[in-house]
Amino acid sequence: MILFSNPGAQVQAHRAEIDQAIARVLDSGWYVLGREVEAFEREFAEYLGTAHAVGVNSGTDALALALRALGIGPGDQVAAPSHTAVATIAAIEMVGAEPLLVDIDPVHYTMDPVALEAAVTPRTRAVVIVHLYGQAADMDAVLGIARRHGLKVVEDCAQATGGRYKGRRLGTLGDVGCFSFYPTKNLGAVGDGGAVVTGSEAVAQSLRSLREYGWRGDRISHVAGVNSRLDELQAAILRAKLPHLDADNDRRRVIAGRYDAELSSVLSIPVRRSESHHVFHLYVVRLADRDAMVARLRGRGIGASIHYAQAAHQQPAYEARLAGAGNLPQTERAVAEIMTLPIYPELSDEEVGAVISAIRTELAGA
Ligand SMILES: *Cc1c(COP(=O)(O)O)cnc(C)c1O
Repeated sequence: MILFSNPGAQVQAHRAEIDQAIARVLDSGWYVLGREVEAFEREFAEYLGTAHAVGVNSGTDALALALRALGIGPGDQVAAPSHTAVATIAAIEMVGAEPLLVDIDPVHYTMDPVALEAAVTPRTRAVVIVHLYGQAADMDAVLGIARRHGLKVVEDCAQATGGRYKGRRLGTLGDVGCFSFYPTKNLGAVGDGGAVVTGSEAVAQSLRSLREYGWRGDRISHVAGVNSRLDELQAAILRAKLPHLDADNDRRRVIAGRYDAELSSVLSIPVRRSESHHVFHLYVVRLADRDAMVARLRGRGIGASIHYAQAAHQQPAYEARLAGAGNLPQTERAVAEIMTLPIYPELSDEEVGAVISAIRTELAGA
């Protein structure tokens, strides 16, 4: 089976450096929030070109703590797409705020700025903008709307670590950038992990306090915080993998380029935004008879998948109760037609060829 993502292959590719990193932590005798986390935070902020990075326990926590650090809470509305990992929406509700769902641009699958401006209400205080599949959202338009309406901008970069918009790394354009190091992400740990990055010293300080019981270096809770710490093992492994991220993302782009070239005549390939350096966390195509094609490809040993088979507002926990849920036609159309093809740095040229020929054969026979 050719998997659509393969974190195990990633670990094997960098195995010696990861083994060394693990041994270093085991021997240090210090396992949570220590030197490795501090070093990773410094190296990750430097890689992105921003001042501060704060390690947390997951991408979901990164989003929730970022919202709290920006002063968002009960009574506030936060605009977000419904076409995203459900974590984006869960994080907004974790802080007691209300998600305000906004439709997508059907070409790039990121939030439609025109729909955002139309949806904003006097209670809207922030927007979570998702760089979906590794592609930057339309940031100039979103930042302009945010300025006009006084919205904080939270970038959900969980699928876009290393991506850029007009040359700047994603996560450094808004007030805060939130990252996930879930194993399948472009920069993945071997467990859960996440980070928030910001140019603001005050926001970084607030995040450091919120992630550890609201302490301020004194073991006294000054605000009601949580336990969302990054552990030393994950940080050390992330430090081993970070220097390879750009090369890994380049390899994803090469694979995407080959899919583009050899599949564009038979189905709708991803459309790249010219300002965006797309890092292809996922390679998502679009076709009419999607469910049958996913099944047929799986029958041929190709791990085709769907991201996501249901938008957030269509899932039982959220169904029809979220603001804006009735007005998402492009989201609902896309969800019925999208299909994810295998893409990860270690995917071989032969495997890419096998995916392409399986699709071409199935489409010719359909
Ligand atoms: C993975 C993901 C998250 C959540 O990250 P976790 O580390 O799994 O909590 C949030 N948003 C998006 C868009 C994601 O893909």
